[in-house]
Amino acid sequence: MIVKNFFIHLSENQLLNKAAQNYGFKLGAHSVVAGTNIEEAIGSIKELNAQGISCTIDNLGEFVHDKAEALEAKNQILGVVDAIHKHDVDAHISLKPSQLGLDIDYDFCFENIKEIVDKASQFGIFINIDMENYDRLQPSFDLMEALSKSYDNIGTVIQSYFLRAQEDIKKYSNYRLRIVKGAYKEPETVAYQTKEEIDANYIELIEYHLLNGKFTSIATHDHNVINHVKQFVIDHNISNDKFEFQMLYGFRKEMQFELAAQGYNFCTYIPFGTDWYGYFMRRLAERPQNLNLVVKQVFTK
Ligand code: FAD
Repeated sequence: MIVKNFFIHLSENQLLNKAAQNYGFKLGAHSVVAGTNIEEAIGSIKELNAQGISCTIDNLGEFVHDKAEALEAKNQILGVVDAIHKHDVDAHISLKPSQLGLDIDYDFCFENIKEIVDKASQFGIFINIDMENYDRLQPSFDLMEALSKSYDNIGTVIQSYFLRAQEDIKKYSNYRLRIVKGAYKEPETVAYQTKEEIDANYIELIEYHLLNGKFTSIATHDHNVINHVKQFVIDHNISNDKFEFQMLYGFRKEMQFELAAQGYNFCTYIPFGTDWYGYFMRRLAERPQNLNLVVKQVFTK
């Protein structure tokens, strides 16, 4: 727990974030980040598509406090929409409200996301609103609900560590949902703290949405959960087109290929860009062994 908190604390450090951007890509993040620009990311996506794997693209960035920076992020994501269309790849987009100005002004953020969702809808591209920490949870649901009055290419994430997740999954069962355990540090007033509670809630949420909801994305590297889902869908006669497994780029690669080869829908989360620091630190918080990926990259160059 101390190690986890240490890396989450680092992930929120703005100074280190800037330093990492300036220092560049050399710390080894490239093992889990698919390039610094969209053209590089498209190369990785084409390779995964050839293996029957679809992708969700995250133009890395979060916690923006400057309108110009948020507008720049919006323009970059509009560029990702164009790139998906131009290269005709099997991919959709994941974005973070705090990257598009949620911490500056809700309406400003709404307009930015709306522009992206609008353009994406013209090409039939789905937009996932990634979930961040608790303070941003309800505003992010509000953004999704408001946008879904005009668009149907939008969905979001349910995090099983939240005490309110069971209520949320029922309320938002009409949406395509990604279900995860949760990656931020949250207090016990709002979130379960033990792995047992988080895992148990995770399974319940997945089962609920598989049985009652729209499309379910099960986003985990946990083989116990994956094996449970495989059996659950057989027992309940749920067809493969109702769900997919998702994992992050660079993690458990053999398992990603194996699941796709077994005929499951599989989607790899593709982060790209220079703003990789917070993303990377959260991966270290989840699993300090992920540091091995960095060490290997540094020594095998
Ligand atoms: P864990 O609970 O970390 O691990 C369980 C077990 O799985 C481990 O004990 C180990 O046996 C095995 N395992 C895990 N990782 C590995 C590995 N790399 N190699 C070998 N074995 C491993 N969080 C959010 O808060 N918001 C989001 O929007 C969000 N989006 C996500 C999208 C995707 C596609 C994914 C995969 C995760 C996302 N997350 C998000 C992160 C998520 O909340 C978890 O923090 C993260 O996935 C770690 O939990 P886990 O279920 O993968 O497995």
